[in-house]
Amino acid sequence: MASIKGSADVVIVGGGVIGLAIARGLALGGVRDVCLIERATLGTEASFAAAGMLLPQVEADAEDDFFKLACRSRDLYPSFAEALCEETGVDVELDTTGTLYVALNEDDHEEIEKRCDWQTRAGLSVDLLDAAEARELEPCISESAFGALLFPRDIQVENRRLLSALANSVNRLGVEVLTETNVESLVIERDRIQGVQTSRGPIGCKSIVIAAGTWSSFLPCSSVVPIVPVRGQMICLESKPQLTRHVLYSPRGYLVPRQDGRLLAGSTSENAGFSKRVTAGGISSILRNTLEISPLIALLPVVDTWAGLRPRPADGLPVLGACGEIDGVVYATGHYRNGILLAPLTAELITEAIVAGVTSPLLAPFSPDRFSSQPVLR
Ligand SMILES: Cc1cc2nc3c(=O)[nH]c(=O)nc-3n(C[C@H](O)[C@H](O)[C@H](O)COP(=O)(O)OP(=O)(O)OC[C@H]3O[C@@H](n4cnc5c(N)ncnc54)[C@H](O)[C@@H]3O)c2cc1C
Repeated sequence: MASIKGSADVVIVGGGVIGLAIARGLALGGVRDVCLIERATLGTEASFAAAGMLLPQVEADAEDDFFKLACRSRDLYPSFAEALCEETGVDVELDTTGTLYVALNEDDHEEIEKRCDWQTRAGLSVDLLDAAEARELEPCISESAFGALLFPRDIQVENRRLLSALANSVNRLGVEVLTETNVESLVIERDRIQGVQTSRGPIGCKSIVIAAGTWSSFLPCSSVVPIVPVRGQMICLESKPQLTRHVLYSPRGYLVPRQDGRLLAGSTSENAGFSKRVTAGGISSILRNTLEISPLIALLPVVDTWAGLRPRPADGLPVLGACGEIDGVVYATGHYRNGILLAPLTAELITEAIVAGVTSPLLAPFSPDRFSSQPVLR
């Protein structure tokens, strides 16, 4: 293995969608010496396992800080996708058809009426459809559906193509990428980051970005940022011609059509430690919940299954921004169920924080300092 350079301006730990998007942002923002360190290969963990749905409105109960962050990031996607295509030639297949939240029982229907109500009052695009209108739009929807809520602006991206585009982009921009290199610990002296200790030796740096997904708590700084893995299993069906044009979502499951005929059926939310096993119980619950949306999927072949680990912080909200106690340490982690959605805005705001030293007010509610009462013994 080639020897490594001993220093960088900024070290990024983690080569998932978040680390890659930030590396690109920093390089485009004029940081010359960016080093991204990934302990395995780029983009093979949660970011690879995801469904690529960009659904801030579908999942929101109120117009809170997280909702604003999520909508802002979703709305960056068209320009983000276009810029990546121009830089790399990789089309990330941003599909703007929209999402149908299908109500399959009375409780679901009550839920979509409430959601339609507050979002309409907030001036957001949303359209309540009765059962006949929903089935006219997507005939594969179950005959027993009560209706659906159409979210024209909640869209999807092919997350694996997104990872390829980002990897390609950071390469072209001259980011130093070290794969198969584990960051073992942070080197901190006099409350300032000095560098990292890696499995291939030390690397000095002025700033570090912790983007290590569900493993971020293993790199404690002044406090432990508590993040746990939440396993999500997925089934990949083959649907040629494609069964649905819209993403079909219910409170229990979802179906995501891809351009090449894959139809993703997800998912589970399990506390199973760091195990990425696909289980009979997981598969059976996904099938039950997605057959309910469209019984027609029973006819489709299963072509693949996998599982990934969502990084969930103790309070379920992302951990974004500079650590107040140790100079030079910046967090970009804990994106839980929304890391693909939040990647463009995370990259923009973290780049701004490092390059211009400006912390956007959008980041304030997600500061890592909210966990500062959980000290680390060194
Ligand atoms: C089944 C499933 C479906 C999902 N669907 C969606 C969706 O539709 N939309 C959405 O927005 N989000 C979705 N998510 C969530 C999304 O995948 C995550 O929020 C996102 O991928 C997190 O990105 P990340 O870069 O932080 O983490 P990861 O992709 O997990 O990357 C972290 C990287 O850090 C590396 N690393 C860890 N520790 C070290 C170390 N010490 N040294 C060096 N490298 C290290 C790891 O090897 C890994 O490559 C889904 C997740 C799952 C599992």
